Amino acid sequence: MLAPLPPAAPAPVSAAVRLAYVLRHFGLAYPGAPAVAIGYAASQPQVEVADFSHGFFSGNAPSPAAPNWREWQGRRVPFFFDNPAAELLIIENNRVLISADIISAAFYLLSGWQEYFSTERDRHGRFPYAASVQQQYDFVTLPAVNYYFDVLRTAVERVSGQPLRPRRWGSQQAEFAAFISHDIDNLRSAWKAPTKAALQQRKFGLFSKLLWQHLTQPDTWDNLEAVAAAVAQYEARSTFFLLPAPQKASDGTPNADYQLTTPLLNRLRGLLELGSELGLHGSLGTATAVEKLRDEQESLAHEALGLRFHYLKWHPQQTIGVVAALGFGYDSTLGFAEHFGFRNSYCQPFYPFNFATGIEADFLEIPLNVMDTTLHHPNYLQLTPAEILPALAPVFAEIKRFGGVASVLWHNENFDPANEKNGPQQFHEIMAHLQQQGAAFHTGREIWREFTAETTAPIHHS
Ligand SMILES: [Zn+2]
Repeated sequence: MLAPLPPAAPAPVSAAVRLAYVLRHFGLAYPGAPAVAIGYAASQPQVEVADFSHGFFSGNAPSPAAPNWREWQGRRVPFFFDNPAAELLIIENNRVLISADIISAAFYLLSGWQEYFSTERDRHGRFPYAASVQQQYDFVTLPAVNYYFDVLRTAVERVSGQPLRPRRWGSQQAEFAAFISHDIDNLRSAWKAPTKAALQQRKFGLFSKLLWQHLTQPDTWDNLEAVAAAVAQYEARSTFFLLPAPQKASDGTPNADYQLTTPLLNRLRGLLELGSELGLHGSLGTATAVEKLRDEQESLAHEALGLRFHYLKWHPQQTIGVVAALGFGYDSTLGFAEHFGFRNSYCQPFYPFNFATGIEADFLEIPLNVMDTTLHHPNYLQLTPAEILPALAPVFAEIKRFGGVASVLWHNENFDPANEKNGPQQFHEIMAHLQQQGAAFHTGREIWREFTAETTAPIHHS
């Protein structure tokens, strides 16, 4: 049974609110873009966007009418809030009219409107991919908002006579960045499945051997230094999200299988010295509980700038307020567990829209594009090892095209050589591909620093 829809947004989402939110991100996507007036007809801007929102944003429906598909730069792109009868760009003298309401469409996808107003949840309480417009219209691997921005870029170039260049990354001015991260859920449990299997198969010799190894040797998943070394083969550094919560959630779902002991904290300090970053992996329940998340933040004994919630838990109406209240610099939870790609249809970091206040939050979201378990898991996809890179390469190509961040989560337990499905071999194939494509490997902290340091030229709107 469905719960009633939430009421309309607590702070009205007016045209001015949508315009300000979208144009701020357009400016961040094209740093140094010339000041060109962009807006709806009333302000008589140089780049006029047709208003086809038809009152949608004063209601509470999770999704608008079906999109109109248009060809743009060799791709079929879904345009919500469109007027199919008109040419996309109408150029008259020194003005450009954009016939699709790309401000409303970009706001709709980037703000996560569908999640805020949908009552659909999966068994972990998450907004399900199956309920998304990305699944319904099959565009989860297309960063549609970046394509809308590309339309806007073309219009701005036309009226300003100046070329706009997408964001570049690092001192090398790389065409895109790669953010490699590891959620540390388990350090102690590699022995469990094979030992149990040996017992069930009555292989008592093997059982004794595995049990002896468990009692006398470090666990195979206790591999944080080896993970850092694997990443360093690509002259890269990565981000480790630590889970300071060994107790299970009330429904029995596991959190960490380890405790943050003094020896472990000392080893983590060693990782920091090698250039790795430590972030917080918020345990089950913390996505809606400020105090609980603050306790975990403090127990890390290290000032974590970044955050990702365990099980990618994200409550669309509450989590933004929780993260903002604790002063995190960035979060990296927003990806679909069920499918790789773009949950907010955007391949750059962005400031999450806070429906409670009517403006963006001041922490950055570095969206998650690829999680190892998504690729091979009973509940998600079942790609063969040979299918993984061919499936992901087009996603990385979209990110490179728009100067975005390729965000890849590989759990430390999946560096276990016994994993031949989504294990170390598949990780290395992805890393080699990203390196060959010219990605700048950045930690979350480096992305945050670079993205927030620049001031961008003001884009006029009214
Ligand atoms: Zn986790």
